[in-house]
Amino acid sequence: MDMNEHLQIRTFKKTGHIEVICGSMFSGKTEELIRRIRRAEIAKQRVNVFKPKIDNRYSEFSIVSHSEQSFPSEMIENAEEILEKSFDTEVIGIDEAQFFDNNLIQVCQALADSGKRVIVAGLDQDYKAIPFEPMPQLLAVAEYITKTLAVCVICGAPANRTQRVTKSADRVLVGAENHYEARCRLHHFVQE
Ligand code: ADP
Ligand code: MG
Repeated sequence: MDMNEHLQIRTFKKTGHIEVICGSMFSGKTEELIRRIRRAEIAKQRVNVFKPKIDNRYSEFSIVSHSEQSFPSEMIENAEEILEKSFDTEVIGIDEAQFFDNNLIQVCQALADSGKRVIVAGLDQDYKAIPFEPMPQLLAVAEYITKTLAVCVICGAPANRTQRVTKSADRVLVGAENHYEARCRLHHFVQE
């Protein structure tokens, strides 16, 4: 196949892409994901939203923002399940992406390669301000990146970090609002 033939075949196929929404807790990631998914629905596109099983804080059947907006979602254990369940889907939303393993990267790539729009929201740093896999890798391969900021509860500055305010050394402590606060760089500290 020469170059022109190859391009012709590609012209008939719709191209997909990956959008990442990242930031600290309370920064509006879930709100932004819901906003984009609702717009896709208005455009009559087939949408499907997924979240990891670990995040059953408010609902098993929807993603819910701290401002109490919600959208129906499916709870899954492994990233691979998204492939099986997205055959007919045009727009795929994934919330709390930091709770999936690194397979999520290949899953998102495969979905985008097959012409789908993939919107992934997740924490880019853990409570120690360490990059939270698989978000860094997803940011590297995404076409579009949105970084959301919360409001620092101490000084009101834009907050890029999540402060854990209860004592626990586990990376994941779901539960969750009472355990965390949005903080800026100056007012964030790591407990020993
Ligand atoms: P995320 O998914 O990033 O944790 P959400 O979309 O669930 O964020 O919630 C964002 C909402 O959280 C804001 O619109 C606001 O109503 C609320 N909120 C509570 N505390 C803060 C804060 N410190 N800074 C910004 N928004 C906050
Ligand atoms: Mg959220």
